[in-house]
Amino acid sequence: MPDITTIAACSTALGAIMCIAILLSWFKDGRPTQRRWQFAPFGIAVPAGILLTYPEILPGPLGLRLGWFALTVVYGSAWLAARVTGGRRPRPLLMLLPCVAVLLFSATIGADDAISELRMLPRVLLFALFDGLAAREFMRMRQPQLQSATTLYWIFAVFCVFELLRAPFSLSLPAPFGPKETQVWSIALFNFLIVLQGLLLGVFLTALGREQLAAQHYRLASIDPLTGIGNRRALDDRMEALARTPRAEGSTAVAVLDIDHFKAINDGLGHGFGDMVIVGAAMVARETLGAGNVFRVGGEEFAAIIQARTPEAIMARAEAMRIAFEARSHVSGGETRRCTISVGVAMLEPGDDHAARFTDADEALYAAKRLGRNQTVMAEPGERKDTAPIDFRAAAGRRASA
Ligand code: GH3
Ligand code: MG
Ligand code: MG
Repeated sequence: MPDITTIAACSTALGAIMCIAILLSWFKDGRPTQRRWQFAPFGIAVPAGILLTYPEILPGPLGLRLGWFALTVVYGSAWLAARVTGGRRPRPLLMLLPCVAVLLFSATIGADDAISELRMLPRVLLFALFDGLAAREFMRMRQPQLQSATTLYWIFAVFCVFELLRAPFSLSLPAPFGPKETQVWSIALFNFLIVLQGLLLGVFLTALGREQLAAQHYRLASIDPLTGIGNRRALDDRMEALARTPRAEGSTAVAVLDIDHFKAINDGLGHGFGDMVIVGAAMVARETLGAGNVFRVGGEEFAAIIQARTPEAIMARAEAMRIAFEARSHVSGGETRRCTISVGVAMLEPGDDHAARFTDADEALYAAKRLGRNQTVMAEPGERKDTAPIDFRAAAGRRASA
């Protein structure tokens, strides 16, 4: 049967191995500040484990007290790691304050004091507090692309509840759970739980870091750099999501927008002026249709998802956007120009072939161009047909000859 010191020493050694593994897997992954805060609980756990296992390396009760202090800091820095992972500022002083208070409380209690049985309680409550705060941070981060944030939320929530449930027993259990003499089972269970929590934190923080990078790459790959709105990839994902989710009340449509006589703007006022008009069109469309609903799908072509109660209300929103763009003055280098936009709209019905509806909207745009531009045309429901995937070049060529 292993003795108490062997169990504690093994746990500390496991902690040290975990530290090395984490250092290796996080080494040079381009996020040094975040990784430093995330490493802190693991890095501090090792000296804490050494002090609690071999308190005699420091004189008197100092080793044990500092060991417990370091352990509260381990829990506190896990909270700070969660904050930094979520993009929030760490708050080291705020974290250290209760840790120091608990250290002073335990330092003032003598073994013979009447309240000596209470000395574990503040530590347990502090562990619960930090676990709860970390759970809250991971809860804030929850989103479909960051599955590990949800897992970490549950891990910390369960440990928080466990700490709270064991708090009343901290008056009567053997150390390290309570004030009574340490038993083999109590030290084994205590160390097992700490190593388990550390292991889960290490594994899921690593996974979360990867998910955050992937989400960041996805954002970069799906945003148009000139206008800051979504690009074709983002539109495809939005259309797919629309097809998957059950339709709420009301109507949904896809609109295709194209700036009129844009070649003349480019040729007469330069490419820079043209770019400014494109940015202006994106801004007007965002303002009138909602930031996440507008996508740049070509040079001066945009697509939009419009939702409203009725098809008439959808047309009204598309028209509002067209009129707002017409009213806007584009000013650069002493030149002022008004521009117009043509819009084609096609209603999306549940179970629709979204690519085909996009083609319908594109054909309605083609009709708007033929009818004289600067207008909105709704695709006739009777003309709805399911077609091959959209060919943007062919569509643009057709419109150019309109
Ligand atoms: P229409 O009214 O029929 O749409 O006529 P148009 O002149 O606008 O014709 P079209 O839509 O085919 O014109 C597209 C032009 O957009 C051609 C290309 O030079 C220009 N273009 C494409 N991408 C960009 C860009 O990023 N910046 C600028 N400034 N021009 C672009
Ligand atoms: Mg055009
Ligand atoms: Mg065009």
